Amino acid sequence: MMNAKNDLARELETLRSAHNYRAFMALSGMLFLSCALFLGQHLVMPDSYPEDWIPRLYVTLYAGSMVFALVFSALLYLARKKDSRTLILALSFVFSFLAVSLGLALSFLDYQYSDNLTAVYIASIGISVMLSAPYILHLILQLWLVACSSAVYFLFLKDTANPSLMMSFIFLGGLSLAFGYYTERSRWKTNLATIQLKALTLHDQMTGAYNRIFLNEYMTKLLDAKHRYGTPLSCILIDVDHFKSVNDTHGHLAGDRVLVELVRRLRDTVRSADIVARMGGEEFLIVLPQTTLDKALVVANKLRLAVEQTPIANLSITVSAGAAEIDDSETFESAFHRCDEALYRAKKSGRNRVEASIL
Ligand code: GH3
Ligand code: MG
Ligand code: MG
Repeated sequence: MMNAKNDLARELETLRSAHNYRAFMALSGMLFLSCALFLGQHLVMPDSYPEDWIPRLYVTLYAGSMVFALVFSALLYLARKKDSRTLILALSFVFSFLAVSLGLALSFLDYQYSDNLTAVYIASIGISVMLSAPYILHLILQLWLVACSSAVYFLFLKDTANPSLMMSFIFLGGLSLAFGYYTERSRWKTNLATIQLKALTLHDQMTGAYNRIFLNEYMTKLLDAKHRYGTPLSCILIDVDHFKSVNDTHGHLAGDRVLVELVRRLRDTVRSADIVARMGGEEFLIVLPQTTLDKALVVANKLRLAVEQTPIANLSITVSAGAAEIDDSETFESAFHRCDEALYRAKKSGRNRVEASIL
């Protein structure tokens, strides 16, 4: 249960991270292009300013932002390469922070010629919508923006500006926060639904083991890797012994409970890189990447003992198994068929045993 929760959280984090990567790569591209445009305008067709330092400051801010956008995209790219979700989130947050601060600085410069600062807040709504982060980070971002705006108002604009400007700051900051909250919430719900839907289509509903749809896709990938890198790959087909009599004696529900707990036992016994798939009825396939037949036989016997030695759903049951290592030139169907033959031999020679298929 705990594991499933952690898996879900991890998958949600992965989707959040992928979203932030795409959104902030696009945002830094947009920042670069728009700053280049304004920088060009200031250099080629400069507006007239009462003081010399103002155009110089504009030029510095635009040129600085272009460098920042480039450095930022490079860092984001490296974080993605290293697969560091925390770093991607941290970079996205820092970008949001610096982007609204830059917007504020430019708006206060503009404010000398026009008398509203709403442009920066509109931009901050955009940033809030793009940023996928815990709500607390959205709150910190908007508090930062409102605090900076208020500080400038009280330090420099109190005597000249309309006091209602303060109300605009608070109102627009709240609006940005609401937009950020709303989009993050709907994104979270959509991601959750996507993950649950994916889990439903790839798992057997009752036992939670992988189903054939997943297995076919996964085997294609594994065989591809095997052909490319020549790594060994083995399978074990497991079937519960006399399962029909479990149903007949204890009822179908008890039989179901055995299957659910059996999958848990199998999963707990194999390594996390190995997968357990339900092939139908009381038959399960264990896929063991990077594993030779010798090792697969050791695993198969370990599984057989893990089932035999401790009751499953309060019933003593045993399993038989057939193991095979997939040959270089072989298809999955052929290897599965060999597992099935080996399993048949295990059943024939008394059950509760493991047989190998040797080519
Ligand atoms: P063997 O040792 O030869 O494998 O004997 P067996 O009784 O296990 O083999 P058989 O294939 O004759 O029976 C399989 C049984 O598994 C019959 C079927 O009712 C039962 N079964 C298949 N799927 C389920 C399920 O989802 N839940 C329950 N409770 N029983 C199932
Ligand atoms: Mg059986
Ligand atoms: Mg069977």
